[in-house]
Amino acid sequence: MTRRKKLYEGKAKILYEGPEPGTLIQYFKDDTTAFDATKKAVLEGKGVINNRISEFIMTRLAGIGVQNHLIKRLNLREQLIREVEIIPLEVVCRNIAAGSISTRLGIPEGTPLPRSIIEFFYKKDELHDPLVTEEHITAFNWAATQEIDDILAMTLRVNDFLTGMFSAVGITLVDFKIEYGRIYEGDFSRVILADEISPDSCRLWDSTTNEKLDKDRFRRDLGNVIESYTEVARRLGIMKEMPTVIQGGITGGAS
Ligand code: UDP
Repeated sequence: MTRRKKLYEGKAKILYEGPEPGTLIQYFKDDTTAFDATKKAVLEGKGVINNRISEFIMTRLAGIGVQNHLIKRLNLREQLIREVEIIPLEVVCRNIAAGSISTRLGIPEGTPLPRSIIEFFYKKDELHDPLVTEEHITAFNWAATQEIDDILAMTLRVNDFLTGMFSAVGITLVDFKIEYGRIYEGDFSRVILADEISPDSCRLWDSTTNEKLDKDRFRRDLGNVIESYTEVARRLGIMKEMPTVIQGGITGGAS
């Protein structure tokens, strides 16, 4: 693998300098963390599956006009992406109560919500990513009012599209987390979708059995994490290229 400058290493991904100015390479690791990285594991092949699933979803979102940072997938673990100025928010969209909204508001997990609910969390590990409101976001200049409006509209479009896409393959989209970044075009800036969309960042339940096919399998020690991620990829019709990776346990960087 060519030597290139590492710009940032997160819990599940690494960002390297890209081949052109304004581009980066996003590398998907097998590392998996939960509960503010107090729980950790290496799940062989996870990065390969998430790279592929995220590419599939981002490509389809671009197809319906949701601009995002993906330029193209480069190999098993890497994508060429546009460099963005990350907005320090985790944007969560929920259709069914689960996880933190269930504990915070006392809503039993699995309760359908009266309508899709979008929540903002401030990306700050030391503070455990606290829930924030639009008041905080504008007061502290994390995003402008117009940017929040764009984020809300895009997130609802993503939700509608993904809900339909997953439902067609027997999967219920319970909730998901996405992140946005700014790109500059002359004097103007625009908000586009960034990061990844994968079973690490969504809650996906089998529509018939309600079996979890996402990161909750890791968080809650349910086992078969990789098998469940692979099942999501298989149902989306993107499994063909992957069986050898999963069975053979390729862990190193791709070509
Ligand atoms: N999520 C994520 N990264 C985080 C926190 C949450 O991708 O740092 C995703 C999570 O997988 C779920 C959704 O966001 O699909 C909502 O998570 P929640 O607020 O319920 O938090 P959790 O119960 O995961 O702590």
